[in-house]
Amino acid sequence: MAGFLLAAIMILLGSSSSSSSSSSGSSAVLEPLFQYIHGHQNEFVQRLGEWVAIQSDSSDPAMWREVKRLLNVTAQKIQEMGGRVEFADVGTQQLASGETVALPPVLLADFERDARKPTLCIYGHVDVQPAKKEDGWVTDPYNLTEVNGNLYGRGATDNKGPVLAWLHAVEAYQATKQELPVNLKFIIEGMEETGSDGLEELTRQRNESFFSDVDYIVISDNVWVSRRPALTYGTRGSTYFFVEVKGVNQDLHSGVWGGCYQEPMSDLIALLDSLIDHSGKILVPGLNEAVAPLTEEERKLYENIHFDVEEVKKEMGINHFLQDTKEGILMARWRYPSLSIHGIEGAFSDPGSKTVIPRRVIGKFSIRQVPNMEPAVVERQVKEHLQQVFTKRKSPNSLAVTTTVGAKPWVADLKDPQYVAGRKAVKAGLRNFIVTIIINLLISVFISTTK
Ligand SMILES: [Zn+2]
Repeated sequence: MAGFLLAAIMILLGSSSSSSSSSSGSSAVLEPLFQYIHGHQNEFVQRLGEWVAIQSDSSDPAMWREVKRLLNVTAQKIQEMGGRVEFADVGTQQLASGETVALPPVLLADFERDARKPTLCIYGHVDVQPAKKEDGWVTDPYNLTEVNGNLYGRGATDNKGPVLAWLHAVEAYQATKQELPVNLKFIIEGMEETGSDGLEELTRQRNESFFSDVDYIVISDNVWVSRRPALTYGTRGSTYFFVEVKGVNQDLHSGVWGGCYQEPMSDLIALLDSLIDHSGKILVPGLNEAVAPLTEEERKLYENIHFDVEEVKKEMGINHFLQDTKEGILMARWRYPSLSIHGIEGAFSDPGSKTVIPRRVIGKFSIRQVPNMEPAVVERQVKEHLQQVFTKRKSPNSLAVTTTVGAKPWVADLKDPQYVAGRKAVKAGLRNFIVTIIINLLISVFISTTK
């Protein structure tokens, strides 16, 4: 956590001097900050432990009170440091029971503003996914525990640790009586793990008010590729597809009806199989042609990324990657499209040997998209391709292909001042603390520019 906290501070410094590449004079500022952090390390970890102990599981509406409790704790900490807070209402959600309940609000906060300084807005979330000991946790997920110098606890890295690190960075500035080099704003939510209900609408609503003076957004909520720190500068987009094949009016018994009619499942398997080949190549015509060509500069970036293929193989239980090199594997994961088949609704999936022929099945797959693919174009290409395959089969069944919202890919400019600041921050954080970091949380910083 110390490493991340330092990175947070360095980013603050970097943001304030984005016009100059040097941060001369910063050591005078940094030294007391570093000392303060060293001196309060135990306190910071203890506070993280208190946050982890709050079971803010957003997947279960019964636990939303805990999500709200942690949002309140966060707000209180910000207020204690002189920040202004607002809980923005983001509406309600109808539960499966029919009951309508209020969503946890989004916390918006800011500190005193100086018009001469740039404004940095920090995004974070305080909710977590469910966690039970039975899921394979070695330690109690809600009891932050140190094992071999690492801290384990649900949400410790995603995303309670990073949120706290930012708050501790502000605390360190204040306690050492140093002026923050930037104006700070926070947007902290409690529904990230279940799709950030209401957040997008809120950011639109507040575009001309709360966000109008924001120069940079920092999101510290991602994973590292290895134990080395990482800055994420893009993510792939996604479109989710449903392929429905409908046959007769009811499920039938294979011993009685098998062999006399075209079964929907056979059609579906053929359709799904037509999407991708054994080498991972997507077979939908036109789809790969839209991918932005790889430049030499971009290719070089991959050479220095730390990713131990053999170690990952062992850890993940993958005995063979489709690509031969580290660079090839990472590019397949990050800069090329991929297609994954997720499931078949209506298919028999319990143990045992039921001999039913399903009357209707829905295949589910998604395509991860990259620049310069357009979700709308991908949707059309996939639908046309599946229709063509289906027509060739001359099946009497019916086919329907639908999608859920397509998310566009994004990629940011690595030479942007925030990335330069981020790189310097991480390097400085590591340089100063490589020996003394006792807690290696897997936290990453993802920085993008807005405006
Ligand atoms: Zn997260």
